[in-house]
Amino acid sequence: MSSVQELRVNEQAVELAPPSDATLRFIGTIRTPWHDRKDCPRQGHHDGPECQLVLDPVWHDALEGLEDYDTLEVLYWLDQSRRDLVRQSPKSDGRTFGTFALRSPVRPNPIGTAMVKLVGINNGTVVVRGLDCLDGTPLLDIKPDRCAFSPKAPPKSGTQTE
Ligand code: SAM
Repeated sequence: MSSVQELRVNEQAVELAPPSDATLRFIGTIRTPWHDRKDCPRQGHHDGPECQLVLDPVWHDALEGLEDYDTLEVLYWLDQSRRDLVRQSPKSDGRTFGTFALRSPVRPNPIGTAMVKLVGINNGTVVVRGLDCLDGTPLLDIKPDRCAFSPKAPPKSGTQTE
């Protein structure tokens, strides 16, 4: 286990059975300039470097219409995280916070999310700014910014937005 996986003072892990109850499908791979976690930003910035969301060819047609949005929500799988901590000490100083009170990559289901700026789309690759993950991080999903998105489906009774 590498040092980033080691418990810090007062951190608390739990015993877990191997995860088996949900299956996600990775839709592609994220290419970023970062190859070591210590070099990644904690959160991406819209003036950060260009990164590529490289979709598997089977999903290329799923990008149709995405070019209409300036801002996208990207979900990714922080695949190098341990997943068993309930309390974490971000500063390694013995002060802990519950996992769900943090945006740490260490969580039971290590899903990362980022609001990114769309730079362009070319042949199944979406170029964005605003990511904070390692090169090679598996891509889970891409959605238009919820504020800019108008539902394409007919309205549902009792709601204004769905
Ligand atoms: N923006 C996302 C969020 O808020 O859900 C992720 C934030 S998390 C604090 C970002 C950090 O996760 C990076 O600074 C890096 O230390 C770590 N990280 C990046 N890619 C990772 C990966 N593939 N596996 C595990 N940890 C990763």
